[in-house]
Amino acid sequence: MAPGTDQSSATPAPEKELPPAIRGLWKREQAVSYSTLLNDIDNKEIKQLDLIPSRREVRVQYNDGRRATVPVFANDNQILRAAERSGTSLQVVDLRREQAAQQLAGTLLMVLLVVVGLSLLLRRSAQMANRALGFGRSQPRLKPQEDLQLRFEDVAGINDARLELEEVVTFLKQPESFIRLGAKIPRGVLLVGPPGTGKTLLAKAIAGEAGVPFFSMAASEFVELFVGVGASRVRDLFRQAKEKAPCIVFIDEIDAVGRQRGAGIGGGNDEREQTLNQLLTEMDGFEENSGVILLAATNRADVLDAALMRPGRFDRRIEVGLPDRRGREAILAVHARTRPLADDVSLADWACRTPGFSGADLANLLNEAAILTARHDQSSIGQQQLEGALERITMGLSNRPLQDSGKKRLIAYHEIGHALVASLLPAANSVDKVTILPRGGAGGYTRFMPDEEVLDSGLITRASCLADLVVALGGRAAEEVVFGPLEVTQGASGDLQMVAQLAREMVTRFGFSSLGPMALEGPGAEVFLGRDWFNQRPGYAETTGQEIDEQIRHLAKNALAHAIDLLTPRRELMDRLVDALITEETISGDRFREIAGLG
Ligand code: ADP
Ligand code: MG
Ligand code: ZN
Repeated sequence: MAPGTDQSSATPAPEKELPPAIRGLWKREQAVSYSTLLNDIDNKEIKQLDLIPSRREVRVQYNDGRRATVPVFANDNQILRAAERSGTSLQVVDLRREQAAQQLAGTLLMVLLVVVGLSLLLRRSAQMANRALGFGRSQPRLKPQEDLQLRFEDVAGINDARLELEEVVTFLKQPESFIRLGAKIPRGVLLVGPPGTGKTLLAKAIAGEAGVPFFSMAASEFVELFVGVGASRVRDLFRQAKEKAPCIVFIDEIDAVGRQRGAGIGGGNDEREQTLNQLLTEMDGFEENSGVILLAATNRADVLDAALMRPGRFDRRIEVGLPDRRGREAILAVHARTRPLADDVSLADWACRTPGFSGADLANLLNEAAILTARHDQSSIGQQQLEGALERITMGLSNRPLQDSGKKRLIAYHEIGHALVASLLPAANSVDKVTILPRGGAGGYTRFMPDEEVLDSGLITRASCLADLVVALGGRAAEEVVFGPLEVTQGASGDLQMVAQLAREMVTRFGFSSLGPMALEGPGAEVFLGRDWFNQRPGYAETTGQEIDEQIRHLAKNALAHAIDLLTPRRELMDRLVDALITEETISGDRFREIAGLG
């Protein structure tokens, strides 16, 4: 019979059956002295002894269920011996160890937390470092086929460029027929043209048509924070491209990276040059007919490095120009597909009225008209909304109409002056519209319809230049004729600027003056900082410069005199036109000619 297991049979059972928490309450603790305890041990009255040295106490459980806690010496051995003698069960409880264990667990938990936290931090900073230093894997956007919804039919009005590129598509689709004939397909195709003419659009359409992977990247993405990153991106791009051949690599706005090397104040930009060098190397590196075609677009071909343009690199250059009248009509039709037009809207008509508009401008025109239509709660885009949109794009937002009638009258005479002079000169453009509704800072304006033939051919005659000068000064002339030389206003300053610019070009570039057929200045292209900055010397003598100024003054003065001559004898007609303009506020070109009797 082991001690402490059997005695329960001698005591009443209830303690056993009660939950442990209540046991202590059931039998209250009793005060027991040290000597009594030793006696009780010897008398075998005790069931269990728990010695807790750290607290210098022993907890006692009697056989009859009583409990007691008795203080003992720290290194007490009397109790040990007594328990030994009587065979009482004795347990030494080391609370410190328990506490230590608890503390250890706590510490371990802390350490674990710190480690986990640190590793998270480390991983994050590693990711950041990767992103920054690991330059690497550019993600040229490899577009899945479904995304490339654009087709050639979405690109209108630039047929020449389209035809050239269709050849590229044919090659990508059936390379055999080309290779059999020993033909080498161009490696690089460069699209050059003013902004908004559809270069990016065309590139996307090619990818859609050819049904091959299309890597697209803006050149500015190459040029990154760290030296060498750009070059590695180029390498990466071409590595991916070669894996996916046949495919198209498109670099938009390539002038950001492909500028002439060694240019720039202080000798150029190392990083950009490295990137460009890498691009050139890669272009040499892929074999002929490997099925990778490099397509690039820019609107500043003049600043590109010559090495980019040599055969074997961008050996084909496609000019994407502003669309002509038919092109504009086709572009309008493309964008009208998704927009409900009213029946009275003629796209051919609108193509006539938007000379010089790019594809993006035309898309914008229809979009603005759609916005106006929605604002007026109408179901289809009408003539009126298109008018509003055109005005908004060309002249800016409309301002509140003038109340002051004196000022309004002056503006009316000014505008009628422009319009009347134009309708009296055969070489001038015809009047499209005259209005005194203020818009975008102008009190009123006269719009002209440029000759389509002139626009399409791009050839300007000397007569039309001279006529333009007279028309531009028609406003100032009218003010002078009607109100006298002291009452003229600064409202003509825009006109004067235009006159100065046109007259200068006539003298220095077109050879339209008595100075003779000499080109004294190049085309007024944007300055390429770094290349043009230091060698900006006029290519003529100082005396020639004086002569140029004289010629310009001569042209302007003559034009103003001519306009005054035309208007002075027609004072009555002017008054009639001004009255009509003030009451109607806006009159169309046809209405103008009707009132003027010039039909
Ligand atoms: P960029 O030549 O500057 O790259 P985009 O190709 O980006 O011009 O053209 C901008 C937008 O103008 C196009 O998304 C498209 O809506 C419109 N657009 C431009 N040109 C044409 C065009 N020839 N045919 C149809 N839409 C055009
Ligand atoms: Mg573009
Ligand atoms: Zn004017």
